[in-house]
Amino acid sequence: MIIGIDAGGTLIKIAYTENGQLQFKKSPIADIEGVAKWVNGLGDCEICLTGGKSGVLRSLLTKQAKEIVEFEATHRGVQFLLSKMGRSETTYLVTNVGTGTSIHCIQNDSQERLGGTGVGGGTLVGLSHLLTGVSDYEEIVRLASKGSRERIDLKVKHIYEGKEPPISGELTASNFGNDLFSISDELTKEELLATVIGLVGETVSTVSVQAARQCDSSLVIYIGSSFIHNPLLKEVVESYTILRGSTPLFLENGEFSGAVGAMTTLQ
Ligand code: ATP
Ligand code: MG
Repeated sequence: MIIGIDAGGTLIKIAYTENGQLQFKKSPIADIEGVAKWVNGLGDCEICLTGGKSGVLRSLLTKQAKEIVEFEATHRGVQFLLSKMGRSETTYLVTNVGTGTSIHCIQNDSQERLGGTGVGGGTLVGLSHLLTGVSDYEEIVRLASKGSRERIDLKVKHIYEGKEPPISGELTASNFGNDLFSISDELTKEELLATVIGLVGETVSTVSVQAARQCDSSLVIYIGSSFIHNPLLKEVVESYTILRGSTPLFLENGEFSGAVGAMTTLQ
């Protein structure tokens, strides 16, 4: 058995092969001891770790484990998962919307980190909790999918009243920038959560399309657990990326890229 483990800021992602089949598993970082117990209880296996918490996990393991730098693991994993989707691109941008967001340019076989933003999945959960009291991720994304951003966001067309705006009037001029003071008590959790997801989605896609120019590629591959069960975030990111002239791709099982990449170093 070979196992790749990506211990990130929020979630531990595990990819392993069992009877030749690729399997995935994930756990909250709070359960890192449980993950270590699971690994320690396995029979003969080879392990490769990656991610910001790999050192903590290593200290809990009774087995030997290799380690690989997170960005390298992600790059290898994205290549592997792309080929599983039958794709053969060699130049593209990877935007990993994890706890935070990290952006990488892939050209042929090399990767370069172009930057990122602190707005990511952690922002999604943190701001959502502060604004509505909801803290469960699945509940946040479920409620958000039923909400409208109409009353909270300010669009370009709201500013350019009575005249033609120089850019699309449908673009967001200011996230949370509408005239809210008089309606703040009426706003529903669904509306607030949808607007938080809009803020995160528009920020990560705006930064990505700008970085894509630096990478000489119009393909932006989005990965990270922030897209799990989150059709609204995907919709915002997809439409914004297309609007700004790039092509988005959501990698199947993309949240496991780091774990898969770590696992492939053992083959
Ligand atoms: P980083 O790479 O920044 O160290 P990470 O690898 O832990 O962090 P991901 O697992 O890619 O990050 O994404 C974490 C985000 O995924 C969370 O911030 C949250 O928005 C979202 N998420 C998806 N499923 C869950 C879940 N079950 N529990 C908590 N957050 C979840
Ligand atoms: Mg990560």
